[in-house]
Amino acid sequence: MKEETKIIQSILSDPLTGAISTPIYQTSTYVQEAPGIHKGFDYTRTNNPTRKILEKLITKLEYGYNSLAFSSGLSSIDAVLKLLKYDDEILAIDDIYGGTFRLFNLYKKLGINTKYLDMTNSEKLNLFFSKKTKLIWIETPTNPTLKVSDIKEICEKSKKFNPNILIVVDNTFASPVIQNPIKLGADIVIHSATKYLAGHSDVLAGLITVKNKELYENLKYIQNATGGVLAPMDCWLTIRGSQTLFLRVKKQSKNALKIASFLNENKNNSIDKVYYPGLSNHKNHLIALKQQKYFGGIISFSLINDTVEHAKKIVTSTKLFKLAESLGGTKSLICHPATMTHKSTPSNIRKKSGIQDSLIRLSVGIEDVEDLINDLNQALSLL
Ligand SMILES: *Cc1c(COP(=O)(O)O)cnc(C)c1O
Repeated sequence: MKEETKIIQSILSDPLTGAISTPIYQTSTYVQEAPGIHKGFDYTRTNNPTRKILEKLITKLEYGYNSLAFSSGLSSIDAVLKLLKYDDEILAIDDIYGGTFRLFNLYKKLGINTKYLDMTNSEKLNLFFSKKTKLIWIETPTNPTLKVSDIKEICEKSKKFNPNILIVVDNTFASPVIQNPIKLGADIVIHSATKYLAGHSDVLAGLITVKNKELYENLKYIQNATGGVLAPMDCWLTIRGSQTLFLRVKKQSKNALKIASFLNENKNNSIDKVYYPGLSNHKNHLIALKQQKYFGGIISFSLINDTVEHAKKIVTSTKLFKLAESLGGTKSLICHPATMTHKSTPSNIRKKSGIQDSLIRLSVGIEDVEDLINDLNQALSLL
């Protein structure tokens, strides 16, 4: 079966009633015949039928052994970190998602330290490995400058150094439509399903998919012990949203490529740099070509007048692109990282990772692309 068929067919109709839409099992507990004799469900923190259907769905999409659904992307990342112990070390991509950076910082006091490095050139990786290295954290493409790293090469190099190193890919930006990290050698894939998977900006959700039984059992234990599970209604919203994942991501990628080309042609006018992995002048375009099926719906660009004021003028002048954080939904969004998503990052660190004062990030939605280009054009003409 092709992937687009698989996603639809893996959402089974309800065996009890034939309901074609997944029932929302809004229950905390389950009646037992005798102590310990039940239908596989005893308490919703441990197991819930609606959650199980979502977990099966993402397992199929990411080619894993099994999956777990959490109350947010960050709670799923937190569960992965709990696989580590005192004195273990993480190697992470340098322009990691801000919330993940904050969480890694929190683990410092438990004796788990993180080293950050540019992974777009995997040659340098060898310099960072040590006996303490237990986990590699990859994001590709990254936020907001869309750096692309070669997942397969990083996996091969890391496993060669130590076959027991765990490789985790945060696949939120790409979605399973664009790349499948487990197929490229990763052990664990996480998603902030809040973004592309649920896809309608109406739910917070996190998903972990693992490669083997042992990882699944360890993470299942952590999830049951800590309790950050996804609620039944939110599981339903994520299942419902995921059914159109391929339609959305393909359209968003197609729209984004056209918009990125439009911005690229407007360079020298008011635009300085355009960041989009689908452009042949993007620094990691060749890796993206090799690794990704599509180039995704996120674009960033900076202005020749590199000031917060000029960027603010643009982000408050678009009408279709709504000014908001987050990404991956049906509606196009615009945001100003320096004063929004990355405002807590010190300005020198921010600038070093390419987040200029005027950098603007777009999350391209499923609207008509000409309308979106006209909207950006009218805003840019106000400069
Ligand atoms: C949003 C996001 C997260 C965090 O997910 P939440 O659902 O907001 O907790 C993690 N990683 C990436 C890349 C994200 O974009």
